[in-house]
Formats: sequence, structure tokens, C-alpha cells
Amino acid sequence: MRATCATIHLSALRENLRRVRERAPAARVMAVVKADGYGHGLERVARALEGADAFGVAGIADGQRLRAAGISQRIVVLSGLDEPGDLAQMRRLRLEGVVHTDAQIDALAADRDPRPLRVWLKLDTGMHRLGFAPERAREVYARLRALPAVDKDIVLMTHFANSDVLDDALTAMQIECFQRSVAGLDGERSLANSAGIFGWPQAQGQWVRAGGALYGICVVAGKSGADFGLRPAMTLATRLVAINPVRRGERVGYAATWEAPEDMHIGVAAIGYGDGYPRHAASGTPVLVNGTRAAIVGRVSMDLITIDLCAHPQARIGDPVVLWGGGLPVEEIAEQAGTIGYDLTCGVTRRVRFAEDDV
Ligand SMILES: *Cc1c(COP(=O)(O)O)cnc(C)c1O
Repeated sequence: MRATCATIHLSALRENLRRVRERAPAARVMAVVKADGYGHGLERVARALEGADAFGVAGIADGQRLRAAGISQRIVVLSGLDEPGDLAQMRRLRLEGVVHTDAQIDALAADRDPRPLRVWLKLDTGMHRLGFAPERAREVYARLRALPAVDKDIVLMTHFANSDVLDDALTAMQIECFQRSVAGLDGERSLANSAGIFGWPQAQGQWVRAGGALYGICVVAGKSGADFGLRPAMTLATRLVAINPVRRGERVGYAATWEAPEDMHIGVAAIGYGDGYPRHAASGTPVLVNGTRAAIVGRVSMDLITIDLCAHPQARIGDPVVLWGGGLPVEEIAEQAGTIGYDLTCGVTRRVRFAEDDV
């Protein structure tokens, strides 16, 4: 059996939720579980995070999976309804929707079902992705408030573009713009994502929306989750399947990009971009062989990577190789591959076996 395995640490998920609550003691926590729980497994994550006050998903299908798994908390569809026909399903599944377009309001206005739906009104304060212009806040709010299809408890929300840069003026401006636009309107407020929770305490409002932090991943440049007291919730590991001698000057891997500087041994581990290990990880990207650091050399191929074993003369076929997780932050691997940790955990492919532990 191929040894490649992603182990999800349920206790890390729970501890990370506690860290988030410590940081935002007055706020309720929406656990964001889009993209299959950032690649950790939607149902598994939601069960481990049963202490969350709500779950945030990208689409109705994920809400349906959560209800089928017995999740009873509030569930918010972060991009809201896609077409009027979605309303019936959202009611049946007790899903709440973010409202960010006039077309969504038109659909709610045309709806004749007497049971009001809970909505989150999204304002675009500077991200320029989803949301109403802040100067429309009052008009849109009043229109929603007047609709029988809409519950009167409307949550007012916005999303930060750059909160992971902890002193960025854009975030300060977004907070100010949001507060000005919704001043005097009834309703709970929700601004902060993970970086907002840890870096912008003045933006916690009544609801924080934590994604990455719950998985132990940090997007602040040069830092990892551990710097914020968070534990990685995923360890991706495999084993050595071959150890081969190469001579000085011989080249390793596709395109022969890496040349051995001396006579040495190359370890071959059973993981590649077909498993979601980033093909762009450069020579020098760290792995753990038997728990200590080694570096990959040459190109990442579909099923295999090659590792410099100079510092590991004791290594044997079958020895464990950790790609990221405890002792090797995914943020560090992401940095080497020109991306962020979220991208890597989301990208673990279906052929990788998943396991759970609770330690
Ligand atoms: C993904 C997302 C979040 C969570 O962001 P993190 O950086 O992972 O904490 C919060 N709010 C919205 C609207 C999102 O789309």
C-alpha cells in the first residue's frame, strides 16, 4: 500500500478554536470550512469543531453535506444564492446566505414563502470582490428589512483584503469605512478573518470568521501558526521507497536540473504533484526524514520526490518522510513554492489516504 497519508489532528482543530476564542472573547466564531475544510475533510472538521457557533461554506452543496452529517449549528453560504431556485433548498436545509448583489435581493423580493431566511449583508469596503458599495448600505439594508422573506436580524459584514500585513493602512481604512457605513443600523457586525482576529482586535465585532487559524495556518509573511499559539491540523507524510548512490556530477530528476556536488545518496519518497505536493517546490525545500530536516533536490515528479541524504547516513527504505505538519510548517513549504499554506492543504488530492488522530 502506498504510504502517502494526510493525518488530521482533531485535538489541534479544537485547540485552535480555543485560541481563536481567547483572542476574540466577546465574539461568536464562524468556522470557515469551505473547500472541504481547507482540504482537511468537511465533515471531519465540522465534527471536531462542534463548539463553533456557525459554519461558513462556499456553496449550498457543502451545507447539504453538513446537514447530512448531523451538524445542527448555523451554516452560512458565503456567496449566497446563485439563482432564485436556491431559496427553497436553503430553507429546507436551514442555510443562511450572504447577500451581495441586487439580483439576490430581487430573488428574495419575489419569494412568496412565509418563512423568513437569515441573511448577512455584505459591504465592499475596499477588497473589490463581493459586496455592495458602502454608500448603498442604508438603502440596501432598508430594502432587505422590508422584505417578508428576510429575517429582521441581519448581520452586517465586510471582508479584509490585506489584514495579514499587520500595520497596513488599507485595513484601518476598511474598518473605518465599514463602521461609518453601518453606524446606527441594527444588527450584529462581522469583519475579521483569521489575520483580522489576531492582528486587528478593534475589528472583532459580534462575529469573527476564522478559517486558516483553525487549521493552524498563518498567512502573515515570514510567520507560521505556531507564532500565534496555533497547531498544524494536518501532517502529510510518506516513506522512502528507494535509496540510490549517485556520483559527483550526475544529475537527478526530470530536465536534469540538479547536479550532485559530491558522491552521495539520494532518497526517493512516494509523493509528488499527483498527491498535491507542489511541483514548484524548489531544490532545497525541507522535508523531515526520521524527524530531522533534509532537502529535496531536482524536480518534483508526479508520484515521487528525490531527497539529499548526505546528512542522513542511517536512513533506510521504509523510513518516514514528513512533507509538512508538526515540526515542519506548511507555510515554509508554501514559501518555497511561491504560494500560501491554504493552497497546499486544499490541494491534497483524492488518491492520498486520510487518517485522524486525537493527540
Ligand atoms: C475564506 C473566508 C474567511 C476565512 O478567511 P481566513 O483567512 O482563512 O481566516 C472569512 N470570511 C470570508 C468571507 C471568507 O471567504
